[in-house]
Amino acid sequence: MRTLPGPLRTALAGDFRADTLDDSAVRPADRGLTEKALHRLADGQLVESVLMRYPGRQGYRERATVCISSQAGCAVGCPFCATGELGFGRDLDAAEIVDQVRFWARRLAVSGMHVTNVVFMGMGEPLLNLDAVLEAAAALTDPARFGLGGRHVTVSTSGVTPGIERLTVLRPSWTLAVSLHAARPSLRDVLVPLNRRYPVEGVVEAASAYADATGRRVSYEYVMIDGLNDTPADAAAVATLLRGRLAHVNLIPMNPVAHTAWLPSRPERIEPFAAVLRGAGIATTIRRTRGDEIGAACGQLAAERGGMPAPATVRRRREHLERAGAASLAGRPG
Ligand code: SF4
Repeated sequence: MRTLPGPLRTALAGDFRADTLDDSAVRPADRGLTEKALHRLADGQLVESVLMRYPGRQGYRERATVCISSQAGCAVGCPFCATGELGFGRDLDAAEIVDQVRFWARRLAVSGMHVTNVVFMGMGEPLLNLDAVLEAAAALTDPARFGLGGRHVTVSTSGVTPGIERLTVLRPSWTLAVSLHAARPSLRDVLVPLNRRYPVEGVVEAASAYADATGRRVSYEYVMIDGLNDTPADAAAVATLLRGRLAHVNLIPMNPVAHTAWLPSRPERIEPFAAVLRGAGIATTIRRTRGDEIGAACGQLAAERGGMPAPATVRRRREHLERAGAASLAGRPG
């Protein structure tokens, strides 16, 4: 702002920040279609965001989707997730959330593109930081600022029932995504530990109420882990849970993470799983994972760059997982 007097510029620089991201390192993948950034915040916390470009094809315009973080780390502790392994750092404020989108918007502007979609699927549980997420989404959907349509904002939750109920009252017309990962309560207790506090049946009821209030189909995300949650019995349980609801299921082969021995489901298990859901009248897609080679599953870059917990924490978690996983598998039907 060189049109302002020097002393005023100095005073402004002392009192305000133009950007909450101190430093960002970018890694490309997928021949440049996916890029992942690791951002360092003012207090040294690390968060990640991802840009995914989808070239235009017949009848569809080119899209640029930015996946952003709402917290540094995460307290939910899903065992297949690198962020869960990091533990919880702190909530981000609205500016820190919006600045991740601004970061990619500036890079896209160089090639004449703009951000078309924003998904809260990075680090953290957005509905446990809902006030900041609402404030950030208000900025992103404000016509005078980013001007995104509400339908181009997706918020993904691991199942915070009170947060979903609050959204149903507010009706922001976002797309709601629920991380399902298992329909059987005993297995979901292991894969999404929040299930012990907010059981899956209540989560799905709350999500259906949101769908009814907004007319927006709920997207259920299902990370597929080889031999753990990809059996015909698991598919039947999901079909029973979601049959007749305004729902869409996304099957996502798991991103391998260093701290578990779990592997992605093989295609010969994913296809029959999808067929069971489609047979129950549930719209189902199989998502191609993007950016595996840059650790695009959230938390992987932060873990590499010094965000990893102490070895003792990792060891305790691994022992807990092994016990919990063994108990779950021992209790599997069939
Ligand atoms: S999957 Fe989401 S809710 Fe679960 S630990 Fe990772 S960031 Fe948290």
